[in-house]
Amino acid sequence: MNADEKELDYCLGEHLPTPGTRTEVAPGVFWLRMVLPFALDHINLWLLRDRYEGREGWAIVDCCLDQDSSREQWQQLFDTGLEGLPVLRVFVTHLHPDHLGLAHWLCDYWNVPLWISATDYHTAHSLIHPSHPQHRDQAVTFMQSHGITNTDVLNAVTQRDFQFSHMVPALPAQYVRLYDGLSVTIGDHIWTCISGYGHAPEHIALYCPTMNVLITGDMVLPRISTNISVYHSEPLANPLQLFLDSLKKFNALPADCLCLPSHGKPFRGLHIRITQLNLHHQDRLQDLRQAFTHGEMSAAEAMGVLFKRELDGHQTIFALGESLAHLHLLWWRGEWERVAGKVIRFKPIAATLAH
Ligand SMILES: [Zn+2]
Repeated sequence: MNADEKELDYCLGEHLPTPGTRTEVAPGVFWLRMVLPFALDHINLWLLRDRYEGREGWAIVDCCLDQDSSREQWQQLFDTGLEGLPVLRVFVTHLHPDHLGLAHWLCDYWNVPLWISATDYHTAHSLIHPSHPQHRDQAVTFMQSHGITNTDVLNAVTQRDFQFSHMVPALPAQYVRLYDGLSVTIGDHIWTCISGYGHAPEHIALYCPTMNVLITGDMVLPRISTNISVYHSEPLANPLQLFLDSLKKFNALPADCLCLPSHGKPFRGLHIRITQLNLHHQDRLQDLRQAFTHGEMSAAEAMGVLFKRELDGHQTIFALGESLAHLHLLWWRGEWERVAGKVIRFKPIAATLAH
């Protein structure tokens, strides 16, 4: 447990649901956990007792990526863990493959609708269709323009779009739109949608006031900080500012709500965690300010300041995107300027140096 985690209350203890089983965390709210083949090795999914269009059954929140082991775990749960009732709805917090991958299979299996934000539904559509070659070149050009020359990293970039369609091979042809402030009745409870930006195009968290339970998705995680990156499709984005602004909405929820994150264990201490995340990013911004009081730096050089450890090709893509997110916040705020060139460089504006 790291120092930040010690300030949180892992109120359910050390228990983790074993594959194919469920653990009740609030009345009618069950926790499932599936394995991911990444450094981040698991995802939490949620099963909610539901009543929809006159039928009793279940709602699923998030799906895991499309892999045999996840289909098997779902099947095991359908056989023994649903009390003989059907799945009536599939909710997805955002488009990342570990959340969206199996939505097509689950919706087909039960012949039920997918509930997701419009932005994530349509963005996922554009990502699963084979990339236009021009698109692929664009991703490489983007990395090079920020100072990346390593061919392993550039090769990894060309494979990335393909990987999305590998993990999310299809999408349901229709969806039901989730958006900020929408109230959705699931079983005996009303859940409110809370949009969040900066991690995914339009992430939807779900809060139930009567049970004081928040399904945080990836917006607030207890152990790791949420990935906030600039991608080639939106090269001037300011996702870190969007993320920090979004966190303010979560700060308005009760401090003692039970948080159900997509990665890590359920916890209480929402406001504490938000403060920690804010401090984490403020510290990273300060690291950049101190490293470059004069001269200019590319995002690749900023990456060397923010990430001290050795990174492989895929980790470099994330690290570059994260570094750029911090540089772009300083740029959009008017503290630094962005200097165009073969390699784009950033530097503090003289006026801010004087302080
Ligand atoms: Zn995510």
